Amino acid sequence: MKKNALKGTILHTPSKDCFEIHEDAYLIWDGDTVLGIFDEIPTGEEVTVRDCKDRLIIPGMSDLHIHAPQYSFVGIAQNLEDMKWDSWFEKYCFPEESRLKDPEYAVRLYGRLAKDLLHTPTTRLCAYGTIHTDSTIILMQKLSEAGLAGYVGKVNMDRNSMPGLLETTEESISETERFLEETVNRFPGIKPMITPRYVPSCTKRLLNALGDLSNRYKVPVQTHLSERSDEIEWVKQLEPDKDCYARCYEDAGLMQQGYLMAHCVYSDDYELGVLANHSGMIAHCPQGNMNSSGGCAPVRKFLDAGVGVGLGTDVAGGNTLNLFKMVFYAVLASKVRNSKALCCGSNEGILSLSEAFYLATKGGGKMWRTGSFEKGYKMDAVIVDDSRLRGEIKRSPYERLERIIGMSDDREICGKYVNGRVLFYEEKPA
Ligand code: FE
Repeated sequence: MKKNALKGTILHTPSKDCFEIHEDAYLIWDGDTVLGIFDEIPTGEEVTVRDCKDRLIIPGMSDLHIHAPQYSFVGIAQNLEDMKWDSWFEKYCFPEESRLKDPEYAVRLYGRLAKDLLHTPTTRLCAYGTIHTDSTIILMQKLSEAGLAGYVGKVNMDRNSMPGLLETTEESISETERFLEETVNRFPGIKPMITPRYVPSCTKRLLNALGDLSNRYKVPVQTHLSERSDEIEWVKQLEPDKDCYARCYEDAGLMQQGYLMAHCVYSDDYELGVLANHSGMIAHCPQGNMNSSGGCAPVRKFLDAGVGVGLGTDVAGGNTLNLFKMVFYAVLASKVRNSKALCCGSNEGILSLSEAFYLATKGGGKMWRTGSFEKGYKMDAVIVDDSRLRGEIKRSPYERLERIIGMSDDREICGKYVNGRVLFYEEKPA
């Protein structure tokens, strides 16, 4: 098969410590796999080249935490007068998620989400559905039809929910098994994930059964961990025999096939030690964390503990699908966190732009070996046209990317590739 190439200004972060920038270069791939970045097409190679001209070519980004049903109220409910944990769930989240019992509504909402995701930097995602199996399968179908890749989970909840959004333990287990049976081999790029919402909404018996299913079907697990201090206190009351929140998942066998823990804002060194004993990832959600709890997660500690880290939009805890914003907020949150640390006489250091960009690309992409243009990586790429944002003064590729991260929106996304396949490409107007 003929090889393919994109020509243009290429930026990526093979290491989190700095950007690697190639101007007027060729990103060459074969099938779904990157061969590398070259100054010239190697002699004797037959390569189809798409010239992106002065546009920037960056790796596709992975959104490691997004609640697909909450897209219906994204941007709403960030300013409730009563900012208690329960009120957001009771007034917005649970009623909105309950609507997904109607598969026709799922077709409309998830169809719109998949369409809107195209004009973002996201190429892969780990998404929550709802407790409704059929609607969650529709979500997988819509993402797959859009050409995106990743994982989707049917959510489990057998306690502490509202009527209409609560399963019996038996229903939750049998529906999860049906979900796995129907989706393990159904969609080429979208795979199922086991998705207990979090400990307060899952009994021990349910968590244990989900651990068995995860190990039997060899399917990874996504859930929430230590997002707020009042949530941690609640978990202590519900599961008093556990020495930390993460232990509830570990003891249920939910960390053996690869875990993805969202938030971890209040995970201490002890809990990070539990996570580090297994292979998995933390989804850092800088905007969602600030919206829900005013917390800034200890990302530097995550990295030092040897736990994988990527970024999540946390829609609708976060209010945008745009992962460029999460890169921006990841840096911002680290500045806020460090200013507090400096007041207490310590210095954690702030995240650099290359580190935050790395989290959104190669960091989160570790789950699929994508997010970098090194040889052997899955070829996910996003082409960005920043003409609208440019001023009179000529800027370096790094400055252009910095401005894109701070200021761009869906108008700047003009092309996207997933697994070497073009999802769309808009030619530059003459
Ligand atoms: Fe969440």
